[in-house]
Amino acid sequence: MAEIKVENLHKSFGDFAAVKNSNFTVENGEFFVLLGPSGCGKTTTLRMIAGLELPTSGRILLGGNDVTFKRAAERDIAFVFQLFALYPHMNVRDNIGFSLKCQGVARSEIRRRVDEAGRILRIEHILEKSVSGLSSGDRQRVALGRAIVREPMCFLMDEPLGALDSEFRHVMCGELRGLHDRLKATTVYVTHDQLEAMSMADKIAVMNKGVIEQFASPQEIYQRPVSMFVADFIGSPPMNFLRFESGIARGSGEVQLGAAKVAMPEIHEDVGPAKLALGVRPEHIRFDDNSPLRGAIYGTEYLGTTQVVTIDTDFGQIKARTSSETRVTPGSSVGLRLEPNRLSLFRAEDGRAIRSKLYEGVAHG
Ligand code: ATP
Repeated sequence: MAEIKVENLHKSFGDFAAVKNSNFTVENGEFFVLLGPSGCGKTTTLRMIAGLELPTSGRILLGGNDVTFKRAAERDIAFVFQLFALYPHMNVRDNIGFSLKCQGVARSEIRRRVDEAGRILRIEHILEKSVSGLSSGDRQRVALGRAIVREPMCFLMDEPLGALDSEFRHVMCGELRGLHDRLKATTVYVTHDQLEAMSMADKIAVMNKGVIEQFASPQEIYQRPVSMFVADFIGSPPMNFLRFESGIARGSGEVQLGAAKVAMPEIHEDVGPAKLALGVRPEHIRFDDNSPLRGAIYGTEYLGTTQVVTIDTDFGQIKARTSSETRVTPGSSVGLRLEPNRLSLFRAEDGRAIRSKLYEGVAHG
């Protein structure tokens, strides 16, 4: 297995730049997810790594070798797509072993590798069955089997669970991560679903309009988003933004929201009078009648052990996640406490996070 290194990778279609100077390294054995909304350039990035699309500029290194101009067949990569086409006239075993047969691999070796893939994917019992009657989950496992038997340097997966219903997708996420932990193969996985990304990835690159906004672990991306785009894209409900206008001196550890002084991590840059957004995750908001920061309950969504409460404030509507035991009455006024050490501050104009103690050691791009 191998490291994948992408250097200043750029792809234009005519005047349109689909991928803009991407740089990232996927370490050997890492599960890396390219995450972002539709059209942000994920698939184009993946296709360039696979050798199915030629970059406009930049380099791709696999296991230290420059493969930028090598054909897909020369890259020792296995691709799994969302729309996996199985050969309907072949049984599961022949579907999985087909690419090896085409390569002229000996029959005994094909048998060994298909049996091994069947064991890893827990589909030994259907190897001799026709693919036509299989469930969508088993069909997906067969598609993965076809990739596994090739024993490639790395796997590239483009929304491989996109065709499955949401409940089953969740099960398959667990299976895919388990599979990865057993094979330890370097994997690049494309999705627009942040829950899939958060549950499986070692590292995530969040893409927006062809640009990688943040490249980090799921925990770091969740706790220390470098932009409002990332903060909003990750989390369900996403991060709240309390919008206000102010100037703040470097070294300050608080912001003034109307009558309320709200403590936050010490700010590491001077902020001239500007439109700002204080970012707070729903679970970092607590009700406290003594707090001068106030809002009016708009409504609540019961989720079992927790509830999501929507609150109107002078700084915008926000959502708090509280215990479902907490009694809330629509229309009533509540005091709000924000967990000081968890707050982010953004410049509303460009959406970038302002450097603070929370962001020490984080690359701001
Ligand atoms: P999706 O999840 O919808 O596939 P994506 O993030 O994978 O989105 P890409 O498929 O990489 O996005 O496409 C990025 C942009 O590049 C889109 O605006 C798309 O229309 C454009 N694009 C992709 N391929 C081509 C092409 N061959 N010619 C022209 N434009 C293209």
